[in-house]
Amino acid sequence: MKVEKTNLWPLVLFKTSKLFWVFICFVLMLFGCTAQEKKFVTMKKENTPNNSQLNMTPEIQKTEEEWKQILTPEQYHICREKGTERAFTGKYYNTKEKGVYKCVACGNELFSSDAKFDSGTGWPSFYSPIDSTKIMTQMDYSYGMTRVEVMCRRCGSHLGHVFEDGPKPTGLRYCINSLSLKLEKNNP
Ligand SMILES: [Zn+2]
Repeated sequence: MKVEKTNLWPLVLFKTSKLFWVFICFVLMLFGCTAQEKKFVTMKKENTPNNSQLNMTPEIQKTEEEWKQILTPEQYHICREKGTERAFTGKYYNTKEKGVYKCVACGNELFSSDAKFDSGTGWPSFYSPIDSTKIMTQMDYSYGMTRVEVMCRRCGSHLGHVFEDGPKPTGLRYCINSLSLKLEKNNP
């Protein structure tokens, strides 16, 4: 009896150590997820301070049929179905002309060419909107990613996403679909 009990010890130790590592992995995973979540929540709070006070219901309300009358099928897919145009295919990713980028669906003045920079991503990129009240943001967990979606404040159209790897002064990169925008060039 005594011998058998002694022989069991390595097995007990093995089981304990296995359980220990499973527990450690679980704690690390939990910590990792929480840390990532916290980072994005902080980002949202810092960069869109007005959104918590703003009414998230867009001013312009139209039926999907009405939007289809206004927008081309490509624009409709991006703006109303939250699509993404393929990189390096849009009209404005390489545009250097001066002017104001308006919402293609409602004409809301969203981004100035002054805040546009070459991100090399193949999408028009801006370090800030003209005014934070021109846009609204929300968390986007689609496609297994955690991103911050950017929408037109006036009509709710999907514009793109905002990331924290932009240049100074904001450190933000508003990655916007060309199909969501219409550039009104400055008069020469
Ligand atoms: Zn709009």
